[in-house]
Amino acid sequence: TPFSALPLAEPIQRALRDLSYDTPSPIQEQALPPQLEGRDIIGCAQTGTGKTAAFALPILHHMSQSPDRPVANCARALVLTPTRELAVQVGESFSKYGKYLKLRHCLIYGGVSQKPQVNAMRRGVDILVATPGRLLDLINQGHVDLQRVEFLVLDEVDRMLDMGFVHDVKKIAAMMPSERQTALFTATLNGQVRSVADRFINDPVEIRI
Ligand code: AMP
Repeated sequence: TPFSALPLAEPIQRALRDLSYDTPSPIQEQALPPQLEGRDIIGCAQTGTGKTAAFALPILHHMSQSPDRPVANCARALVLTPTRELAVQVGESFSKYGKYLKLRHCLIYGGVSQKPQVNAMRRGVDILVATPGRLLDLINQGHVDLQRVEFLVLDEVDRMLDMGFVHDVKKIAAMMPSERQTALFTATLNGQVRSVADRFINDPVEIRI
């Protein structure tokens, strides 16, 4: 089935046409419908499979259906990634797929000055893409507030855990409302990933490609 058969908002369909995306990849084909219906998912997929669109498109769709003015220091969606490089790529994907939607996104990662990140958050954002360590720093300093997050994505969780972010990830996820939609992506579903999933994901659809 082509993208045009999915219940995605027209501005998103138009962006996909601009990119010449006709058909969802296998992970997208399985992950998009449940998320568009509001379900949580666990997706087992490597990079290069199209997993970014698999979580970005439903978030953009839901935001297009319920526009909301950003609140200072808050975000409506949080995507946690293990590295700065991945955060940048995810941010670029949201820009590509959301080019016809007027949404604000912000990137937060370590190794650079926090000032521009703090300033970007001050006006509030729709989509926040962040690595765990710097995000926690900014939360602890009062520059980021996760109490209005409606969508959480844990991207490449196995890598995040391998990098020693397990406590940070658990701390961050515990700060969010339980009334939210969550997607978890991982290359391998080991015990540690399962324990994070069991704690933070509600009745998920499990997808393996
Ligand atoms: P990702 O695994 O999310 O990093 O995506 C891998 C690459 O595939 C990126 O360059 C995407 O732009 C591209 N891509 C993702 N989904 C599709 C699709 N359905 N059709 C064509 N290209 C795609």
